[in-house]
Amino acid sequence: MQFRAVKGMNDILPDEVGRWQHLEHCFRRTAELYGFREIRTPLLEQTELFVRSIGETTDVVEKEMYTFQRSQESLTLRPEGTASAARAYVEHSIHAQEPVSRWYYLGPMFRAERPQRGRYRQFYQAGCEVFGDPGPAADAEIIDMLYRLFQELGIGGLQVAVNSIGGPETRERYRNALLAHLRPKAAELSEHAQSRLEANPLRILDSKDARDQAACAGAPSLLDQLSDTDRAHWQSLRGALDALGTPYQVEAGLVRGLDYYTRTLFEIRSTEGQLGAQNTLAGGGRYDGMVKGLGGPDVPAIGFAMGLERILLAMTRPDAPPLPFCFLAPIGAAALHSALVLAREIRQLGCRAEVDGRGGSIKSMLRRADSSGARLCLVLGESELARGVVQLKDLSQRSQHELPREDAARFVVEQLRAVDPNAEARSAVAGSDA
Ligand code: ATP
Ligand code: MG
Repeated sequence: MQFRAVKGMNDILPDEVGRWQHLEHCFRRTAELYGFREIRTPLLEQTELFVRSIGETTDVVEKEMYTFQRSQESLTLRPEGTASAARAYVEHSIHAQEPVSRWYYLGPMFRAERPQRGRYRQFYQAGCEVFGDPGPAADAEIIDMLYRLFQELGIGGLQVAVNSIGGPETRERYRNALLAHLRPKAAELSEHAQSRLEANPLRILDSKDARDQAACAGAPSLLDQLSDTDRAHWQSLRGALDALGTPYQVEAGLVRGLDYYTRTLFEIRSTEGQLGAQNTLAGGGRYDGMVKGLGGPDVPAIGFAMGLERILLAMTRPDAPPLPFCFLAPIGAAALHSALVLAREIRQLGCRAEVDGRGGSIKSMLRRADSSGARLCLVLGESELARGVVQLKDLSQRSQHELPREDAARFVVEQLRAVDPNAEARSAVAGSDA
């Protein structure tokens, strides 16, 4: 039997992983410059956490969760990161320790969706959450931060869509206005929308079904229903975005797929790259009621999540080249131990080294060195080692010379750095965008 990865879940092979590390590094650095600190929560939570925070009549909760029963407890693989962050915020009484918390996370999420380009069952999100700041300046900064990050990553065709859906009273007022618009068209809606009509009409605005989209055309605008305080928040948000020079469009129909949002909502899309229909790179918004809803204090919050696979599809810039390295070719069993020690010395100085421990003639060693992609090759022969020297070959220049064993590591590192100034500084992951 030939095993395969679970449908909609992908391996990320070493050849691709450099792009992931680069993206993760850029995200972390940006987030930390804005004062966010990383939080890591478990992949599993009690099912009820997601039902309560995301909302019972959302696509995620209705049909996308991986849920299972384990000794009387219903557990779910996290479909997103905000609910877990808010749960941790409440559980550890973070509000009592600091007035404002800025957290970021990065990791796999799970949703049982139909797999297609840009849509998977295990996918990676990176996201930020701000607890304790009612905005709107924080809202504007977070949107601008995302926009600048995507620009830095070289993503073209960026569009920022912004909307406000107000607080609970505004939502209730809007719900009634929307129901008045949709009820007469109920028969034209998709079956799914019909079943949701009374329970959660706002969800219908987010439907991808053409029948629902047609019925929603001409629906009243949420922005016209904003209360005075919601409107003031919305206008200050726009003022701050203008001051920051963030280009954005107001999209009155933007409601997004999760029930927990209040006031500010936003999405960033790209019209370039290989994205196709799944062109939303990141989405987020304010969720002022969630912390309280989970049994915590009345603390406002805002956050976003971005999908790493989609961002990688949108990033057209070529990958960073791999680290240049030195191949160590010991000739004979006694030379192998010297090679192991010398390779470790090179790595301790911050450069990449690989020992060929398979044995063989000098000819086959050199053939392997050539095909390995190494820049340099150190040949360690037993008689030369007895004299305290090694042979260094520059594999691209086809030159060779002898040098003292004790200088070998330092010399190799100098040569590698001359080829690529980042050979050492990149330290594999940190700083790979340098
Ligand atoms: P969509 O409308 O595309 O289903 P969503 O509203 O469900 O997106 P969010 O829950 O807000 O998305 O997640 C934020 C981001 O995470 C999305 O903009 C997208 O980049 C990414 N994302 C969401 N679901 C998936 C998935 N199944 N596979 C890959 N990326 C995803
Ligand atoms: Mg979705």
